[in-house]
Formats: sequence, C-alpha cells, structure tokens
Amino acid sequence: MSNRGQRRRDLAEFRKASHLSLLTYLVAAHTPLDDHPLLRNALAFWRGNIRQRRPFCPACRASFADDAEPGAFLFAVPAVAPTSVTVSGFCTQCWSDLPPDVIECEAVRVLRRLIPSGGFIDG
Ligand SMILES: [Zn+2]
Repeated sequence: MSNRGQRRRDLAEFRKASHLSLLTYLVAAHTPLDDHPLLRNALAFWRGNIRQRRPFCPACRASFADDAEPGAFLFAVPAVAPTSVTVSGFCTQCWSDLPPDVIECEAVRVLRRLIPSGGFIDG
C-alpha cells in the first residue's frame, strides 16, 4: 500500500466526516495539549509517522522527515462528529519569520485542499 493511496483514502474519509464544516486551531508547537486529547493524540500520531508520511511545511516545503523542526501546528477537526483530525506543521523558520497574514494565507491554502468549497466563519 502506498503512502499516497493511504493519504488519499484518509482524506476521503476525513472529507466525508467533516460535513463541510471544520474547526481549526493554529497553535505553537510547544503549546501543552493536555486538555485536548483529540489534538494531542493526532499530534502524537503525526510525530510517530514522520518517516512514513513525510509531512512538509506548507509555506517553504521543508520536509519534517529531513531536518525541519515544527514551530506550529494547524489542526482541523470536523465540527460534526469530531473524531478525526488533520495535522499540518509549519517549520520553526517560517513560524518565526513569516508575518501572521502569510501564515494565515498558507493555512487557508491547506484547509482549501481539505474542503475545496469550504467557507470560513470567524469564531
Ligand atoms: Zn517552512
């Protein structure tokens, strides 16, 4: 089974579960997630599978499987039936150097891939 096939299937399931409505969280990498077991577990999974899944920073494309270190994480959780979470990491370099609006713009791009027709509601 290829990573790509797995990822596509994960994404299909995620889209189905999300009902076109996502709650998103952008948090610094060192933020304690003790009160958010769903996010904490998703992040543990992300960290545990870096070698296999080879995630990369959406802003600069640095691979976390190589030498990029995560500076922040973008979590997306379906608002209805929040059991699956997607995790995207921004590298330390981008997180410290890029202005917030660029980070936000990159985050929106990531989220648009999850839900192409999705809109955004400011919480
Ligand atoms: Zn980066």
